[in-house]
Amino acid sequence: MQDLLERDTIDAVGDVRAAMQRNVQTLQSLQPEDQSPASWMAPAEEVMRNHREWVRLEWRDPGLQLQVGVDSPYRTPVFARLGRDNAQVEVAQACALAQRNSAAAYAPSTYVPLPDGLGLEVMELCLPWYQGGRVRGFLVASYALSEMLEAMVRREHTRAQEVSFIEPDGTRLAVRGGIHRGQRLFSAQQLLALPGYTLVLRLDSWRAEPNWWPHLLTALVMGLSLALVTVLAFLARDMRRRQRAERDLADALAFRKAMEDSLVTGLRARDLQGRITYVNPAFCEMVGFRADELLGQGIPAPYWPPEKVDEYGKRQAWRLAGNTPPREGTESEFQRKNGERFPVLIFEAPLINAKGLQTGWMSAVLNISSQRASEELSRATLDRLQATARLATVGEMASLLSHELNQPLAAIASYASGSQNLLQTQAHAADAVGAQIGQALDHIAEQARRAGLVIKSVHNFVRRRDQSRQAVAVQTLIDSIWPLVTLQARKTGVQLLIDCPTDLPSVWCDRTMVEQVLINLARNGIQAMQSLPAGQARELRLSVRPAVSAELGQCLEFAMADRGEGISPAVSAQLYTPFFTTKSEGMGLGLSLCRTVIEQHGGRLQHRAVWPSGTEFFFALALAPTDDNTSPQRQALPQS
Ligand code: ADP
Repeated sequence: MQDLLERDTIDAVGDVRAAMQRNVQTLQSLQPEDQSPASWMAPAEEVMRNHREWVRLEWRDPGLQLQVGVDSPYRTPVFARLGRDNAQVEVAQACALAQRNSAAAYAPSTYVPLPDGLGLEVMELCLPWYQGGRVRGFLVASYALSEMLEAMVRREHTRAQEVSFIEPDGTRLAVRGGIHRGQRLFSAQQLLALPGYTLVLRLDSWRAEPNWWPHLLTALVMGLSLALVTVLAFLARDMRRRQRAERDLADALAFRKAMEDSLVTGLRARDLQGRITYVNPAFCEMVGFRADELLGQGIPAPYWPPEKVDEYGKRQAWRLAGNTPPREGTESEFQRKNGERFPVLIFEAPLINAKGLQTGWMSAVLNISSQRASEELSRATLDRLQATARLATVGEMASLLSHELNQPLAAIASYASGSQNLLQTQAHAADAVGAQIGQALDHIAEQARRAGLVIKSVHNFVRRRDQSRQAVAVQTLIDSIWPLVTLQARKTGVQLLIDCPTDLPSVWCDRTMVEQVLINLARNGIQAMQSLPAGQARELRLSVRPAVSAELGQCLEFAMADRGEGISPAVSAQLYTPFFTTKSEGMGLGLSLCRTVIEQHGGRLQHRAVWPSGTEFFFALALAPTDDNTSPQRQALPQS
């Protein structure tokens, strides 16, 4: 502020000095030369109109006597009241100096009282006028100091500041402008050295106490902006960190999800009330429910078998009471949405949150169906092994029996033929009794031969010898078994029916074994009808018909149908299992052997229910080759 004022003061003094210089030049141009005092008046008045700072302009002769004088048109003549004589000393002083210097000179200012009670500081300027090297006169101009300030100092300096002329001793001579706007005073002064007189120009400036309020507001706004920028910077950093953390979290979640989705183990989380809070895709696939069908479900869970709800509910309550489930897992059974049941192994662990509190249970669920199936398979294999071992023993026994029975049978046959020979040579041969005994002996011999053949076949079968195949006419097969079947049927009152066209081709088979199969099936059928109430039809029908099978192509199908009570699904499932029987005296080997025999012939032994009741067992036999069907062929087939 002070610096500014100092600069303004220098500028103002410069302005005043320049103006005074110009005024001196104006005066020089106004020198009268050859003019008369009267003619000089006009230009003098003209000049006075342009210079308010002058109050009077005079032309004096070299003796300082007044020739003519012009007062300022802007005010009442200043010297009118006291006359000009009072200023004679100052005029003389200035003119003496001016003459000495041959240049304009000034006299110290004097106070001139005015008629209105005020006064005016007036400074005399004297400019000598030469002609031919001699002083011809003087031009004396009287400056009013206050008007000088008005006319020569720029408005910008007087508007806000107080400009004054003071004596070097500090006496104030004239003052202009200035508004007192505060308590603080700044002031600057500069000397205005004039020939003959030195004035001081002073500038005073009042400044109010600095008003802190706007500054405070500005500072506040700046501070807040700074704080805002800082906060924004922190926010941006925080945002970046947060985004990084979110990215990491998303990665971790994606990793966890991929892990859960790839698991074949079902995962299930439940809260402490038993409500499902989480399931993974493997669990959904296991139970056949969608995740949204399971989430939020409480007790009973939708995959609990209805009849086990009580048991599972108790198990759940026990666990919720704070008991720890066994580490080796719990076996349980779940039910799929489609009603299918499957066994599961469940491992459970408490779910602990970040505060260390238990919020529920997390379970890993394993579907152990395939494990169970393989256990079942190995058990069945074991059973079959045992059965095979028993069969082997039976085979050994059969082999032993066949060996042992062969001799008595041979003896029976030879005794029978011996007896027949005797009968033929004796007298009884001709009579009726003899004929009957002869017939009986024939039968004995025939049956003994048959028994021998059966035993031989069994022996071969047990020893796994090659089976002897031959072309056998269907009628031959029927004829050889039918008497035996008739015997049994008659005992139980069963009616026998044969449904067999006469022109059927021969079949290619081990005759004895196939006869045994037919006898077995017929016996089973007859036995199935034993328990029927009296009066109900008891019928056993043997049908033979041409057929085409996948295994054998063109073939003959043999079917043995009874009218018994049929076979229940439970029995049906185990029908061909060795040693399975529902009869108290049964061996349970008949059907198993029959199936083996038929399979050895390349076919399949099957059964179906017949209407209105009863069962039909049926199988197919290959046709005998036609190129050599007159002589029976012996062909070895591989044993299965
Ligand atoms: P076994 O006759 O010694 O019992 P099988 O192997 O011949 O042995 O028969 C096994 C079981 O199959 C019988 O006990 C019986 O329950 C059942 N079965 C066989 N054939 C028939 C049939 N035609 N009708 C009803 N059940 C039958």
